Amino acid sequence: MGSVTLRYFCYGCIFTSVTWSLLLFAYLNLNQDKYSPRNVPIKGIEPYKPRRLLPRFTHSPNLLPKSFQKDKLVEDLFHPHEELPPEKKIDMLPEMGMIFSKQDEEVRDFGYRKHAFNLLISNRIGNHRELPDTREPKCKKKSYPFDLPSASIIICFYNEALSALLRTVHSVFDRTPAHVLHEVILVDDDSELGDLKEDLDEYIEGNFLEKVKLVRNPKREGLIRGRMIGASHAKGDVLVFLDSHCEVNEMWLQPLLSPIKEDRKTVVCPVIDIISADTLAYSSSPIVRGGFNWGLHFKWDSVPLSELSGPEGAIAPFKSPTMAGGLFAMERNYFNELGQYDGGMDIWGGENLEISFRIWMCGGRLLIIPCSRVGHIFRKRRPYGSPGGQDTMAHNSLRLAHVWMDEYKEQFFALRPELRTRNYGDITERVSLRKQLNCKSFKWYLDNIYPEMQLTGPNAKAQQPVFVNRGLKRPNVLQRGLLRHLGTGKCLVAQSQPSHKGGLVVVKECDPVSSDQMWVYNEDHELILANLLCLDMPETRSSDPPRLMKCHGSGGSQQWSLGKNNRLYQVSIGQCMKVNNELSHKGYVSMAICDDSPSQQWRLES
Ligand code: UDP
Ligand code: MN
Repeated sequence: MGSVTLRYFCYGCIFTSVTWSLLLFAYLNLNQDKYSPRNVPIKGIEPYKPRRLLPRFTHSPNLLPKSFQKDKLVEDLFHPHEELPPEKKIDMLPEMGMIFSKQDEEVRDFGYRKHAFNLLISNRIGNHRELPDTREPKCKKKSYPFDLPSASIIICFYNEALSALLRTVHSVFDRTPAHVLHEVILVDDDSELGDLKEDLDEYIEGNFLEKVKLVRNPKREGLIRGRMIGASHAKGDVLVFLDSHCEVNEMWLQPLLSPIKEDRKTVVCPVIDIISADTLAYSSSPIVRGGFNWGLHFKWDSVPLSELSGPEGAIAPFKSPTMAGGLFAMERNYFNELGQYDGGMDIWGGENLEISFRIWMCGGRLLIIPCSRVGHIFRKRRPYGSPGGQDTMAHNSLRLAHVWMDEYKEQFFALRPELRTRNYGDITERVSLRKQLNCKSFKWYLDNIYPEMQLTGPNAKAQQPVFVNRGLKRPNVLQRGLLRHLGTGKCLVAQSQPSHKGGLVVVKECDPVSSDQMWVYNEDHELILANLLCLDMPETRSSDPPRLMKCHGSGGSQQWSLGKNNRLYQVSIGQCMKVNNELSHKGYVSMAICDDSPSQQWRLES
């Protein structure tokens, strides 16, 4: 009798545990599927029925190790998120770049080489993510007409990271109402990366059906002719150009379409939010407008208060003398009437000033729309060259100076005398376009649209975009003291002088009274030695040791995470700092895959 009871009891146990396992399995699967391409509801779009899933990317493990969520290393490294404002929380994910294996390292290094951003994080984020809503709160109360012109989104790419490209396209579908989204046109500018061929074809076929068109250039054209090719395939009322590494934010398109509906000769740009190339963190850009200098480089200027003093204040669209170039919307027929782009311009550069001058001088206007936000990965360098290695920026600038700038081109030549005699091809068509459109003079443009320009002499230098760095804001100090290495008991100091830019760091005997050993750790996660220089990872490669550099204030290579676990995690390379024990490098520090060994233990001692 007893043994029968026991047997039933056991059956019961097995039944219960099997049921629970099944439930758990189903739950985990459901959760995992939440972000798979098949199951993401796209607002206003008929749910699609994909035929195939994305095959593995050539260079992308595309996933964190299964243990990522629970991994102790990662858990320990998390910041006290509760204290961060919500918009920061979403993207304080530097841990996403953590290196777990040789393969991770390969993806990271390949990514920095080929794309100049953190490919490992891009792959791990995948096709969808939430973004902080960076609009002014007042924007959320604004309403737009339902009946808006339809948009063709045009995205040219050359050797783009597949994960970044797909996230760009998905962000458009995730955040655009179907009735205004006519199509997305991708223009492959003869890329060489294998990922962008069959894998991309299959993905588009399986996930987007007919709303996404892919055009392949049989030879490299550059982004200027590339966009013209894209535009020639478009059928929507408005062309919206995006770079291939963007993420559009909440309600981004209606605020762009609405002013075009009111006046078809209005060309509009969203505010370009910043996606960090090192961490892919999304952050808000300040409200600035486009300008340029006499070297014909684009720059950001502050917006004159008079522009923002209307009834809508800071959320009103405002005039901008120039556009940054990558992201804007323009009525399709107007784009054609106004002469598209200068097809004699190659690869990259100058076309943004050319179209800006043309818009203003030939009867249109250019506005920035503060309530429309689109993120763009800003890179420190362009990772591709031009065929033949020519300086296309100089070539394109010459063309635009000769066509549009009248006597003011002398200002450009004063800065670039070597370009005076340089061949710039045939511009007769563009000159006659200017006549035919009855455009005003460059002097008119300067007097009326960019009067600030005349105050600057020809020696005004190219300026960094103001929003890449933090400007005048000083980050709060979180902690201050000696940085002791627990394995050796020694302290991290400059190998030579703490003021020596590019100098290495080593561990030496601690000296609590020496200001040369004093580190500051601040809320931007910088480590500053002796109030002078920041601890920095050169060129985001782990094989080089960290060194001391001028603080640049834009995170990434100078962003360190000093966690409870005593590890010193470098965000842009996803590794931890350790002290070398080998005799040849004794006392020197280097970067390694994070682990629990004493060689990676540090403490900031106040
Ligand atoms: N691009 C292109 N062909 C080229 C060079 C660039 O199609 O020969 C694309 C590139 O992939 C990107 C866009 O043009 O989507 C703008 O280029 P990039 O992002 O390098 O310019 P930046 O943002 O640095 O101005
Ligand atoms: Mn870009």
